[in-house]
Amino acid sequence: MVSTPLEDRVVTAAEALLAEQHYVSPVDVLLRLGWLAPPHLDHWRQGRVPCLERMVQAGLGKQSTAMRVLRSWAVRRGLTPSETGYVTRTRDRRPLRFRVRGKPAIERAYRTHWVSPELSAREQERLAERQSRPPDLVVVDALNDWICARCAATGGDLLHMHDDGPLCLHCAGLDHLVFLPAGDARRTRRAHRASTLTAVVVRFSTSRKRYERQGLLVEPGAVDTTD
Ligand SMILES: [Zn+2]
Repeated sequence: MVSTPLEDRVVTAAEALLAEQHYVSPVDVLLRLGWLAPPHLDHWRQGRVPCLERMVQAGLGKQSTAMRVLRSWAVRRGLTPSETGYVTRTRDRRPLRFRVRGKPAIERAYRTHWVSPELSAREQERLAERQSRPPDLVVVDALNDWICARCAATGGDLLHMHDDGPLCLHCAGLDHLVFLPAGDARRTRRAHRASTLTAVVVRFSTSRKRYERQGLLVEPGAVDTTD
């Protein structure tokens, strides 16, 4: 069978991802193909767009072909399908949608990660656990002025994106959290584990054109003050 340039590109991307991370997800393939820009992926994860399809810079036909090629490549390679939960990084943690009119089977295909059989059972288990953990909430350190969509308060540096628009931390129910700046990985990890509610603080870098992590909001009691 003669393969097309698109098929070749999908297989090359998938092989590279498998070598790097021992599993391949459709979203990673879209990123690797250059069809999906990281800031657009962030918007989708933050629940700001109804589905991923709108963010992908390739027609539906091409996307469907890529999905089909990925699947047959993964089956050929003997990879294990692992269905992974995708939810928004918002407080209500809604399920994320991939297609505008995605049939359940298509949505499931996008959620399916293909895992290397070379990983031990324990490693596969740990990977599945890590990937199905709900993502951290996201709070944006805003560059521009904004107005809270609920209480109409202005200002405050931090906002939480919601369907209705930006919310101040009070309206988002996050104003009791304290900020832990990035830098001390060990301290951050400990606070993250100890806090039942956490939010990652990001700021958009206009030069790098992506969101960058500034630190973490955690419950006051979770911050280790012994060092
Ligand atoms: Zn408010």
